[in-house]
Amino acid sequence: MAELACKNCRFINVDTNICRNCGSTDLTKEWYGYVVIVDPEKSEIAKRLEIKIPGKYALRVG
Ligand SMILES: [Zn+2]
Repeated sequence: MAELACKNCRFINVDTNICRNCGSTDLTKEWYGYVVIVDPEKSEIAKRLEIKIPGKYALRVG
């Protein structure tokens, strides 16, 4: 099971080459730490990162 973080929005995708959050194909396995966004509508972090769907997001990519 490969967990790949999107370089564009940092969403952590499992077993896919296309980001489920933003549609980017620029994914990397080089990422460190993560936050779990449960409710993007109410999260300040989510607004700052332009997160639209709940899930795991990498804190650092690359
Ligand atoms: Zn993305």
